[in-house]
Amino acid sequence: MAEAPADRRREELAAALAVVGRRVEDACRAAGRPRSEVTVIAVTKTYPASDVRLLAALGVTDIGENRDQEAAAKAAECTGLGLRWHFIGQLQTNKARQVVAFADVIHSVDRTRLVDALSREAVRAGREIGCLIQVSLAGAPGAGSAGGPGGRGGAAPADVPALADAVARAGGLRLDGVMAVAPLGAEPSEAFGRLRSVAERLREDHPSARVISAGMSGDMTQAIAHGATHLRVGTALLGRRTPFVR
Ligand SMILES: *Cc1c(COP(=O)(O)O)cnc(C)c1O
Repeated sequence: MAEAPADRRREELAAALAVVGRRVEDACRAAGRPRSEVTVIAVTKTYPASDVRLLAALGVTDIGENRDQEAAAKAAECTGLGLRWHFIGQLQTNKARQVVAFADVIHSVDRTRLVDALSREAVRAGREIGCLIQVSLAGAPGAGSAGGPGGRGGAAPADVPALADAVARAGGLRLDGVMAVAPLGAEPSEAFGRLRSVAERLREDHPSARVISAGMSGDMTQAIAHGATHLRVGTALLGRRTPFVR
């Protein structure tokens, strides 16, 4: 009997979840950390809401998206599943309202103008949004923010304390921690080591900001070794995306 496509997709996702789960367990054991410290966020960008529903049925609780329109539509299609939505993409201030409407945590807070816009919209919506300060690990320590070879945004490490204070003071926002993407071509362990130092420094001023969002399909083991609490995993769970969409 031929299998329905949805059943086949469910099996694919279940198998991928099992593989990722084992990688996380192994990395936690190697790092001497409890598995319960690490949350896997399934990054579903470019994949349909039907995949989000299948993942939820398989026990996934955290979903990541990086484009505001796609994410808003998908979140609207997946209400009532008890999912936590993470916005992980670069965010323009004029999209703050749309993102605040569905996101529970925003990983890409990297400038004060964005803090102001998010706060205004969160207060207006009567929501509390978790915020992670995105840290740029591009280039040498002390290099400027945003741009660089990785071109992936983020605040320079030196700017993190002031930005964190702004989030902590802002209405409607909660300072949860830090996020980073290992720069292209860099050694992930070195980059995540620097992120850990930034996170430790942040916790001196803000003890409850314990989240370290680091690690993707290719570098989750190194991220766990350097204290990541949240992994953002796309390809290893859902498969390769079409090449023109990162
Ligand atoms: C797409 C994306 C991911 C997931 O990357 P994979 O290599 O597919 O696991 C993680 N973080 C951010 C910011 C992304 O945009």
